[in-house]
Amino acid sequence: MKDNKMIIDTHAHMADSKFDSDREVVIRKAFNCGVGKIFEIACEMRYWDKALELSKWDNIFLSFGIHPIEAREATRQDYYKLQTLVQNKKCIAVGEIGLDFHYDSSSRNIDIQKESLAEQIDIATKYNKAIIIHCRDAYDEIINFFRKYKAIPKGVIHCFSGTSKQAKIFVGMGFLLGIDGPVTYKKSENLKQVVSETDVNKLLVETDCPYLAPQKYRGQRNEPSYIVETLKEIAAIKNISIDEAAQVTTQNALNLFGV
Ligand SMILES: [Zn+2]
Repeated sequence: MKDNKMIIDTHAHMADSKFDSDREVVIRKAFNCGVGKIFEIACEMRYWDKALELSKWDNIFLSFGIHPIEAREATRQDYYKLQTLVQNKKCIAVGEIGLDFHYDSSSRNIDIQKESLAEQIDIATKYNKAIIIHCRDAYDEIINFFRKYKAIPKGVIHCFSGTSKQAKIFVGMGFLLGIDGPVTYKKSENLKQVVSETDVNKLLVETDCPYLAPQKYRGQRNEPSYIVETLKEIAAIKNISIDEAAQVTTQNALNLFGV
């Protein structure tokens, strides 16, 4: 397989304890199934060191960040440590960072999350890294947040699940949209519509494993090799071959993350 034809799982959580019993097996399986690279997203502080260990694999790259849910407990030391981690030669991005008002939409929590997001965007800018944005129940808020930036950093809206209108705004701001397993669910008409209306040059494929297994494996633990199910669905919606969907989304990832 030529390098630009391989598949990249641009969003995995292989450090998650759900992989403790068979992590190496799952990683090898992915690399044997056409996945050429895995981007490990270490956004929970307790997984940072474990993610670093994963970088011993040549084709695993890392993203470090403080998830909005953890923003409240993050200390100054944590932000210093993040700065150090971001300078690691295998680090390609800062994330997932963002806004999540699902569990707590108190104004105090919103303020803390916005401060944390702004600080981490500054870190990404300083070290010229892409940002991986997590957004839950806060799409309009995060759009308004980015509107205040003169230069919006390059990045991806991870696991996009907003409206067509919001998708167009993010793409207009220069973001790519991360498409995950839910696009394969029958009820995801809105997301299928977003994919059909968005230029394939603006899409990335992600598993978000161990979460969000595609329809074929729904209810089971997700893993990087299942990414092909998401590619199949994108290919069907866009009326292109799976190879083309893989090639284009891989090139998008290579361009954004510079690997
Ligand atoms: Zn994730």
